[in-house]
Amino acid sequence: MAIQLFDSLTREIRVLQPSHPDGVYRFYNCGPTVYAPAHIGNFRTFVVNDVIRRLLELRFGAAKVRHVRNLTDVDDKTIKRAREENRALAEVARQWTAKFHADCSALNCLAPHVEPAATGHIREQVDMIDVLMKKGNAYRAADGSVYFKVSSFSRYGALSRVKERELQPGGAPKDHAADADEKEDVSDFALWKAHKAEDGANRWDSPWGEGRPGWHIECSAMIKKHLGETIDLHTGGVDLLFPHHENEIAQSECCNGTTFVRHWYHSEHLLVDGRKMSKSLGNLYTLDELTAKGFSPMAVRYALLMGHPRKQLNFTLESLHAAESALANLRAYRGSLPPTGVVHDAFGPVFTALEDDLNTPAAFGALFTIVNRRAGEADAESFDRALFALGIDLHKAAAPKAEAPPAIAGLAAKRWAAKQSKDFAAADALRKEIAAAGWSMLDRKDGYSLEPARK
Ligand SMILES: [Zn+2]
Repeated sequence: MAIQLFDSLTREIRVLQPSHPDGVYRFYNCGPTVYAPAHIGNFRTFVVNDVIRRLLELRFGAAKVRHVRNLTDVDDKTIKRAREENRALAEVARQWTAKFHADCSALNCLAPHVEPAATGHIREQVDMIDVLMKKGNAYRAADGSVYFKVSSFSRYGALSRVKERELQPGGAPKDHAADADEKEDVSDFALWKAHKAEDGANRWDSPWGEGRPGWHIECSAMIKKHLGETIDLHTGGVDLLFPHHENEIAQSECCNGTTFVRHWYHSEHLLVDGRKMSKSLGNLYTLDELTAKGFSPMAVRYALLMGHPRKQLNFTLESLHAAESALANLRAYRGSLPPTGVVHDAFGPVFTALEDDLNTPAAFGALFTIVNRRAGEADAESFDRALFALGIDLHKAAAPKAEAPPAIAGLAAKRWAAKQSKDFAAADALRKEIAAAGWSMLDRKDGYSLEPARK
């Protein structure tokens, strides 16, 4: 079966296939801004993208997928952070890039093949802006900045249907009205920002004077350099659809004169405890905050995939408890399987669900239908392949802080022995003692594990 995915541009579910004669599938997703730790809302997008990457590899072969994800290391937020901390921009970027990589690795996300940074591609961005100036798609304003002239691109708004929105009461989209001052039209956006005092040392030469690139141009320039003028799939969170992705299309198609992206995919917002994440509500979790509560990164990944990626997902600590139990069940099941030898692939329905518009909740449903039957119909090889597609690594599953103190481990061993000798009264008394100390025992046929009790 082919992989089918919703396309945000045509609003249809379409089959993914490589378009280049070399058969290499070209996949880009917008990466993080490296000035602070990413939160779990960001990680929902990266985990969903990771499942897409895995499906592409399983479908086309690992050598036939080229995945690029950028690092935004120069913009208003990174510069502000560096100034507040009196540090060099590059130093701030290095720190948060390393943290992002560590979090991605804990969440078992495959690293992209190329991870270009905006400051490493100033030349490419300037070259692209130069072409847009020469073609009449851009102009230099009185403030020295260069803007893209939205009225020069008739297809502007095709992705976000922004023109339909503008006709409605409320007028121009506020994302655009917020920025600049010297533009000819409120919809125009900055390609090159003239140097201002608050930018400090963060300035580069250009034909239009010293300054720095606008945010949107970096993706267009880095895609062109690392994947070419036309790519097969571009993804990101739905918050990037407008204006960022609309602007990427305008820049790239005007500069290159050809189709930029053949397929667009956007994952939806994450809600936490039923509300939009915000600092003031205290529900903006980082991965570290969740592991400090005793949850494993693998449970976080699991919980982030429990909702359909194109629907809003409500994330709760309760969903992490459920994820930990589900992972414990999967570990126990894995231990019961023969290594190989079952010809029929029992886990076909997992792939069917994933290839049908990335229906991750249905894929987990299909997985557990097979796991709960527990008959000898599957082997470890096919089970591992299904877990690879979902990116669930059972070796990483145990919570990092779930190591029980020796006294508790001793009580657990005594209880297990009591249970084995069918002294259920003693086993029950020990279970209560363990629970009173904040731990619970999960029994399996062949052994047990200790986990922090739910609070
Ligand atoms: Zn981008």
